[in-house]
Amino acid sequence: MLDAQVLIVGAGPTGLVAACELIRRGVGVRLVDRAPAASPYARAQLLWPRTLDLLEDLGALDAARSAGHTLNAFSYFSDRAHVATFTMPEELVPLCIPQNDTERVLTDRLHALGGRIERGVRLLAFDDLDFSGSADGVTSILEHPDGRVERIRTAFVVGADGASSAVRGQIGASFTGATYASTFALVDCRPTGAELPTDRAHYYLSAQGVLAVVALPGGVFRFFSVLPPGQEMSLPWMQKAVDERGPAGVRLADPVWQTAFRVHARQADIYRRGRVFLAGDAAHVHSPAGGQGLNTGVQDAHNLAWKLAAVLSGEAPDDLLATYEQERLAVAARVVRETDLQTRAWMVRRKPWTGLRDLAFRAADRSGAIERFYLPVMAGRRLRYPPTRATQVPGRRCGRGGLRPGAAVPYRLADALGVVHGRWTVVTASPGLLPALRRLAEATPGLNVGAAPETPQLCEKPGYYLIRPDGHIAAHGHADDLNRLRAEIEHGVPRRAPAETVRGNA
Ligand SMILES: Cc1cc2nc3c(=O)[nH]c(=O)nc-3n(C[C@H](O)[C@H](O)[C@H](O)COP(=O)(O)OP(=O)(O)OC[C@H]3O[C@@H](n4cnc5c(N)ncnc54)[C@H](O)[C@@H]3O)c2cc1C
Repeated sequence: MLDAQVLIVGAGPTGLVAACELIRRGVGVRLVDRAPAASPYARAQLLWPRTLDLLEDLGALDAARSAGHTLNAFSYFSDRAHVATFTMPEELVPLCIPQNDTERVLTDRLHALGGRIERGVRLLAFDDLDFSGSADGVTSILEHPDGRVERIRTAFVVGADGASSAVRGQIGASFTGATYASTFALVDCRPTGAELPTDRAHYYLSAQGVLAVVALPGGVFRFFSVLPPGQEMSLPWMQKAVDERGPAGVRLADPVWQTAFRVHARQADIYRRGRVFLAGDAAHVHSPAGGQGLNTGVQDAHNLAWKLAAVLSGEAPDDLLATYEQERLAVAARVVRETDLQTRAWMVRRKPWTGLRDLAFRAADRSGAIERFYLPVMAGRRLRYPPTRATQVPGRRCGRGGLRPGAAVPYRLADALGVVHGRWTVVTASPGLLPALRRLAEATPGLNVGAAPETPQLCEKPGYYLIRPDGHIAAHGHADDLNRLRAEIEHGVPRRAPAETVRGNA
């Protein structure tokens, strides 16, 4: 007998998104967090477009936008001389919003969906965990604020309990990688003395390492720097760093948060043990360079939740769950690598390396390479789960056209293509293919059909795109590939109508 279908341990951004996604699909969830209250601190501050898509799908984007502002450019200085400015193309602009506001918006959404966070409740251990996952559930031992210990049995557990994850320890996953030698210092305050731009981040590079200045809403700015060995973090120290290498005339005042912290680049070797999953910081931690931490966790949660819901409702076989680790572990490995590179560029201190770095930044500024190749990666627009079956790709080469199997379709483009968000949809821009696709959908009640206008993002050959409930392209093919499409539908699309309507943008 199960007490709930899924236990989520940790109500940070990862756990909150997992809970919202599961509840809106009709799954019974318990969400516990050991902290008695939500953290009041800003921590992560950037939400990139792929994450904004997920919030839009959840019906939380407007609330997030009203609590943040957009960041339109990154400017780099070397010894205070301007080196490069990378301007965000409109479709890649991130939202700058303090993490506590992101969590508030997600908590409001959770409440609107009928969920709640059980605060002050800590996962202690799993009881007699079946490491093969063949038992019908997992027994978790929870400690309540009054000291009461509760044993609950759920079909699955999601460990979204952050970098020092108890769940990770319980399932015996390693957390391999390294900790950077440097300590970082952060001050969020309301500076005076000089006007600072709110729509761009400034990075001051020097022999002392990086000093970053980024605006948060409400007149607050974040000052972020490497702390020299043995140096205590203090407001006067950060003021000295700003005076020596940052924007001229700025006085740090009215601090709302100041802290020093070490940065790690680590990843769990497994994201799943039987019926227990890891997501977010519990599975991977990396440098804040590029602002990817929270975004990657939210995307983990989104990837996992629809799969758990589909398996729990009997719409999909258990083996769908294996694709979670397969897809997300590779994404996190890439994020850890890329943020490490960026962090090393921040830390370069000696000539001639500083000169080479500045040359590279200038060349990238002139060529537009960062805007074309790097920012789309940060924005989550190059996120792609490589196909694993021949039937996911066309039999013959594609013509020109951007979207490839495994890629995530941007939310607004998905709208234009007639995608039913949160459900399986096959879309085509070829009127000639529509009758065949409609016949397939009639035989497959879990499948919707979208008639798309021709757009430059689609393959120029007449064909179809099969879109998963999380907006990723499960398969693409041309008019002569309908047998491949049938095989893909057979493989993954529910034969029966979904049990619940996905409650989203309401
Ligand atoms: C100082 C600082 C600055 C940062 N800056 C950035 C940034 O600029 N950009 C960026 O992208 N990221 C940044 N991060 C990282 C970002 O905050 C994390 O990536 C993000 O919080 C991960 O979300 P999460 O939900 O996976 O984990 P968390 O936010 O850590 O949430 C985990 C939750 O689990 C709970 N929990 C833990 N153990 C248990 C247990 N046994 N039982 C029940 N509950 C438990 C905790 O109370 C917590 O609420 C920063 C982090 C720090 C500390």
